[in-house]
Amino acid sequence: MSFTLPALPYDYNALEPFIDEQTMRIHHTAHHQAYVNNLNAALDKHPENKEKDLKELLQNLDKLPSDIKGAVRNNGGGHFNHDFFWKVLAPAESTSLSSELENPLKENFGSVDAFKEEFEKAALGRFGSGWAWLVKKADGSLKIESTPNQDNYLMSAETANDTPILGLDVWEHAYYLKYQNKRGEYAKAFWNVVNWDKVRELGGF
Ligand code: MN
Repeated sequence: MSFTLPALPYDYNALEPFIDEQTMRIHHTAHHQAYVNNLNAALDKHPENKEKDLKELLQNLDKLPSDIKGAVRNNGGGHFNHDFFWKVLAPAESTSLSSELENPLKENFGSVDAFKEEFEKAALGRFGSGWAWLVKKADGSLKIESTPNQDNYLMSAETANDTPILGLDVWEHAYYLKYQNKRGEYAKAFWNVVNWDKVRELGGF
């Protein structure tokens, strides 16, 4: 089995003006495609691993041959994270924050604004490339986390049972064409194109 690039669930221009068409096109067809291609190329070197699904691969990086461990971590993580990211985005005003999700956000962070502030802080505070996440922990609480590069919750035994319900790509390739060095503006604009229905569904709210 080889991994393939999933189609976007909306057009490349669907997130305008908050995330521009050119960024979306390059992000999907070049960056995400490269993670898929490089993941497949790594697994071709040790085809016995091609039967495993992506979660299994990322949860067991230590069991992989040392010559592909780094490539699977970076590119398998990249494929997994982007597949997730496209699903938690949606055209502006196509979804809204319902009380089913608003209530747990208030319970865990005090208010929706406080939640957004903390999430933006995680996005801005990630030095270099990585991700900000809203995670439903195994105990049901909501936490904001951040990972470097293309790492994610599956790669650590401590977080492997968590459920990420929202993620923001803070690699420069995700925003530089429109926002240049202003990552904070990109993180604020992101709220306009969050797929709140998907976030609620992922959280089981
Ligand atoms: Mn990306």
